[in-house]
Amino acid sequence: MNEDAVVRLAQEGKVAVITIDNPPVNTITADVRAGLREALTELRGLEDVRAMLLRCAGSPFCSGADIGEFDGPPKEAEYRELFGELEALPLPVVCALHGTVLGGGLELALACHYRVASPGTRCGFPEVSLGIIPGAGGTQRMPRLIGVEQTLELILGIRPIDANKGVALGFLDSIVEGDLRAAALDYTQQLVASGKGPRPTSARSVDPATATDEIRDRLQKFARDRYPNQRAPLTAIEAVSASATLALDEGLVLEDELVNAAKQTVESRGAIHVFFAERECRRIPGLPADARAGDITQAGIIGAGTMGGGIAICFANAAIPVTVLDISDEALERGLGVVDATLASRVKRGRMSEADKQSRMSRISGTTDYADLADADVVIEAATENMELKKQIFRKLDEVAKPGTLLATNTSTLDIDELATAVTRPEDVIGMHFFSPANVMPLLEVVRTKATSGSAIMTAMALARPLRKTPVLARVCYGFIGNRMMEGYAREAERMVLEGATPRQVDSALEAWGMAMGILAVFDMAGVDVGVHVHRDNAHLYPPDPTYYRADFALFDAGRLGQKNGKGYYRYEPGDRARHDDPDAIALFRATGERLGVEQRDHSDDEIVERCLYPLLNEGFRILEEGIAIRASDIDVVWTSGYGFPRYRGGPMFYAETIGLPTLLDGMRRYRQLFGPMHWEPARLLVELVDKGQSLADWAAENGV
Ligand code: NAD
Repeated sequence: MNEDAVVRLAQEGKVAVITIDNPPVNTITADVRAGLREALTELRGLEDVRAMLLRCAGSPFCSGADIGEFDGPPKEAEYRELFGELEALPLPVVCALHGTVLGGGLELALACHYRVASPGTRCGFPEVSLGIIPGAGGTQRMPRLIGVEQTLELILGIRPIDANKGVALGFLDSIVEGDLRAAALDYTQQLVASGKGPRPTSARSVDPATATDEIRDRLQKFARDRYPNQRAPLTAIEAVSASATLALDEGLVLEDELVNAAKQTVESRGAIHVFFAERECRRIPGLPADARAGDITQAGIIGAGTMGGGIAICFANAAIPVTVLDISDEALERGLGVVDATLASRVKRGRMSEADKQSRMSRISGTTDYADLADADVVIEAATENMELKKQIFRKLDEVAKPGTLLATNTSTLDIDELATAVTRPEDVIGMHFFSPANVMPLLEVVRTKATSGSAIMTAMALARPLRKTPVLARVCYGFIGNRMMEGYAREAERMVLEGATPRQVDSALEAWGMAMGILAVFDMAGVDVGVHVHRDNAHLYPPDPTYYRADFALFDAGRLGQKNGKGYYRYEPGDRARHDDPDAIALFRATGERLGVEQRDHSDDEIVERCLYPLLNEGFRILEEGIAIRASDIDVVWTSGYGFPRYRGGPMFYAETIGLPTLLDGMRRYRQLFGPMHWEPARLLVELVDKGQSLADWAAENGV
């Protein structure tokens, strides 16, 4: 075996050491599987070997199976045989774990006889977040080590657990300090010296006390509540529960069947689509060959408000020093006070140490003097939403910023092409649209103007990585990708309460369909006044519809601002976010609807979902045809990472294909007939694709994206 092989075998005394070395994350690709088979064959021919140690080079240990293979023929049988071969070795097999050990990586470890880990190793089964279940023996071997209940808690919990917990549960034997290879080798040699033999997991049986009907019922209820509309968590319960009654071989056959069935579901295809879309969105076609991402070692932010503070935390988390500028010492003190309190609450919840908090705060400084931004490689403007004010800020930045500094704005609604005219270097101006709370939400819309340079685009896209954001590139238009698609979605929700639907009816239908939170509850949370100000300021950009956003306006005029004053679409008790139906709000909507001459009607859940989603999907087609988004899957990323659109439905464009483009087009035409053409005109691209019988994939192929 040569030194470059992805799997290498070496002999250390009486121990055969097999090393997987498949950067960057040691995915178990076809090469790795072939390498492991070859290594096992070679090992069996070695004389004087008394034990085997399996390890991975680099970091992490192993991030699992190759998701790229999911589309191809099933690989379960191959995994089953390979891991079975490993487990059947007639000598002790030790696995040395470090970093993250996920999915197939953990299953590989379970097929070994003993497991040791470095401190801080994290192990988990993330499969159900991809609409599938652990394969390669995960559902059958893990319960033989820790029982059915704990295995399912791990699978349904998705988040990896720490090695200490792994030892406490019993699937890890020991945590070893120091150099892992040396320590694990030592552990293996001691096993040999003490005469320990093989200890196959398959020889164990499942503790029946962990597999009672009561436990199963409780976990099924949990899975239905936590993962509505999703099959995979229930399938995982079925597979793991079977381990209590089936022999390993039989259990593995059942697992194969269930994994393969799970891979066929729309839920898994949707979630896997989003997984790949989140990688693809970083790839920007058509940039000049000499475009380069600049280094960012120093950042500036203008405005220490809600967004500026959250963005400052992102930089501090990324260990990039950041200077925040505001108009006065008071404004700064207030803003940085909020930042401090945000981090303090993480410390209080045990999510961050006090020392970490302090080191983060030490990276954030405040100023009222533009000269302090002279060294910044990027400045993100997050001041009050007003074009004149932002232009003034950009003029000042133009004077102090060094050449090449990325000049970014976090505006949600303003025309960035116009803003860029305020500076002498429009090629460095870009939108970096964060979502609130900026230190939590993963989405970052990067917005290029007509003048933005390729290097500026690359710098902004690359900066997303240390800031731990998922960047999607958009062009300038009102609302960019996400908020523009939100318009029709929210418009219909508001319109339906004027037609006599209750807020709960609308939100419940949307939530039952899968949205993280009904849109009217979202408005209450964000503040009804926020939406009203945006709609008042931009009234000239909306269609001339006298009912447009009138539910929001009626609430605002009645002093109902949402959660912040305990009443909006719903009523809230002090200090509690639970929504209560409020007859006053319902009467207000009815009166407003009547005043505006809105016809009252009954709404089925299907109508609510269609009327909210169809305009959203339709707008996605316009965004594509206008070139605002590069590709349909970018739109899916925006909505799944920024707007609570369920990943298991793959995002709006994937969902449009799931229901069928002709169904969407028919639906738009049906509602156009009912409500008129103002809001229900089908997008040209949608009509075209349906006429030609084409899919979004055909469109992507024709457009080279
Ligand atoms: P905010 O009112 O919380 O904060 C604005 C800050 O800007 C205040 O601290 C204010 O003192 C400061 N400021 C005002 N004029 C200034 C000036 N001339 N120079 C320097 N600082 C000045 O507002 P916010 O919610 O953080 O919004 C900021 C920007 O982010 C806006 O453009 C908004 O559209 C955008 N945005 C907001 C959200 C959101 O949910 N809040 C989401 C995305 C984008």
